[in-house]
Amino acid sequence: MKTKPQGSDAEAKLLADVSVNLGWALIERFATLNRESGSADECAAADYIVSQLQRLRIPYHLHEPQLYLSLPRSASVELPSGVTLKGKPPSFSTSTGAAGITAPIVHVPAAAIKDVADLFEDHRSGGADVRGKIVVSEGYAMPLVVERFERAGAVGQVYINPGDRVHWGICTPIWGAPTDKTIERKPQSPVLAISRPDGDRLVAAIRDGLAQATIRTALEEGWYRCKLPVARIAGASDDLMLVHGHYDSWDVGIGDNAVGDATLLELARIFHAHRKRLRRSLLVAWWPGHSMGRYAGSTWFADRFALDLRQRCVAALNIDSPGCWRATQYDEVMWMAEADDLCRRAIKDATGVTPHRLRPIRAGDYSFNQLGLTSFFMLLSNIPKAERDQLGFYPVGGCGGNTAWHTEADLLPVADRGNLERDLKVYVTAILRVLNAGILPLDYRATVKEIADAVNAYRKQAGDLADLAPIEQELKRLRGALNAFYAALPRCRSAAAIAQANDTLRELARILVPVNYAAGERFDHDPALPLGTVPRLSAAARLQSTPPDRRPFLQAGLVREVNKVANALHEAWRLVRHSA
Ligand SMILES: [Zn+2]
Repeated sequence: MKTKPQGSDAEAKLLADVSVNLGWALIERFATLNRESGSADECAAADYIVSQLQRLRIPYHLHEPQLYLSLPRSASVELPSGVTLKGKPPSFSTSTGAAGITAPIVHVPAAAIKDVADLFEDHRSGGADVRGKIVVSEGYAMPLVVERFERAGAVGQVYINPGDRVHWGICTPIWGAPTDKTIERKPQSPVLAISRPDGDRLVAAIRDGLAQATIRTALEEGWYRCKLPVARIAGASDDLMLVHGHYDSWDVGIGDNAVGDATLLELARIFHAHRKRLRRSLLVAWWPGHSMGRYAGSTWFADRFALDLRQRCVAALNIDSPGCWRATQYDEVMWMAEADDLCRRAIKDATGVTPHRLRPIRAGDYSFNQLGLTSFFMLLSNIPKAERDQLGFYPVGGCGGNTAWHTEADLLPVADRGNLERDLKVYVTAILRVLNAGILPLDYRATVKEIADAVNAYRKQAGDLADLAPIEQELKRLRGALNAFYAALPRCRSAAAIAQANDTLRELARILVPVNYAAGERFDHDPALPLGTVPRLSAAARLQSTPPDRRPFLQAGLVREVNKVANALHEAWRLVRHSA
């Protein structure tokens, strides 16, 4: 679908108002605050945001949720020779106590990570005997691999980060606050990360016959009161767009994510100043608890305002690590398929650069998938790959690709004023085109194509071991109805017809986003583990490799998941058919 730039006069006026003076002052202030979640500094950062909103007379609400956090304190590996290697425990590692854990040690090598979408995957071939042992492996302490080693009986895990710096992180798969149903999934053993040079020494020692080592970890875990400011800019209608990013950080976290917080403040300023031009309303939210609570702030908001968002929210835009040093490319930008044209054109129109899309991974405050909100962006601009290679940078999950990410080195030089201003224009363009579009610029034919391609792939993987025909029939019918629906859109002229079309688009998102992105139920939150397209059908990909005696169990479950997906697509068809 072609999106005509709606109200391009308004667009020119808002873009003329783009500056980052206010944002840069926020960045300089945040450079003095170690915004660990639940801390006094995080609280001071929220107070700073609120003071700016007050000064600009922007309406806001300051929520104060209790969030479940894990705060890393110290970690080390001690060798029998007396050598101690200092590291960092990821959030939600267990604490060992002063005595530590002493156990046999084993090295399980892992392949290098390729790119940002690859960060959460597991790069080890199974089979190593880790039972009762401390495992040493390369990479980041991500939940998938941590859980696998734990299930295989490892009593402790040491991750060798790719470079000289040790990166903070979080190893629980539980998304947001644990519930009575999910809390058992919390890691049950100590985990820590060490630097590449220390890792090399450790691996050499193991090769030379090191039999055992002692690891020590210390963290604080519990419920903490945090501040969560949300600015509200009222447009002509109550329909709203949610624009959001986290303001807690590892250390002072300039690239991740003071730059994003500055951007959110500038967006609140610009859209508030031009609020009389806006058709729809805008919520601008700053989350606590992202880093040490696995997106605890955005998850709390998704839960607390689930019904409001379900009824009113037309799209969500996430802002993490824009405007960083040397970040001039847009080749690892995430957006959902229905927002493809919108996102490509916003980036191209605002910057002249052609972007490259990544499908959103199960990470980074995408806490609204199971509500069915169309979401786009997470990280934005990044350092070109060739430059990163030249700089000796390895893949990281923010800061525009700068390896200062999640370390004490994420300081003021990681931010770039010119790049921040350029990225702000991308956001202003994309947000305004959603807020002021007559008919929402979202094309769910692209979503259905993505779903159909995935179902095709599952069918090939499963062969004759699964029957996906009920889904294929529904997809065919839905595609036809959607084609008719989109073909009729240009003829929607009256306010009532336009409102009806937008209603249909919003309800389509509620059905199709969960089909495309969720394995669990609406209002729940899937764990932070890699999820494929149409994840309910993932068993289809495993059927061939599953031993014949186990296979019928997989098939029995898959039939139910096929029914759920086919039924959702049937409901989407009924919705579109009635409004075409
Ligand atoms: Zn971040």
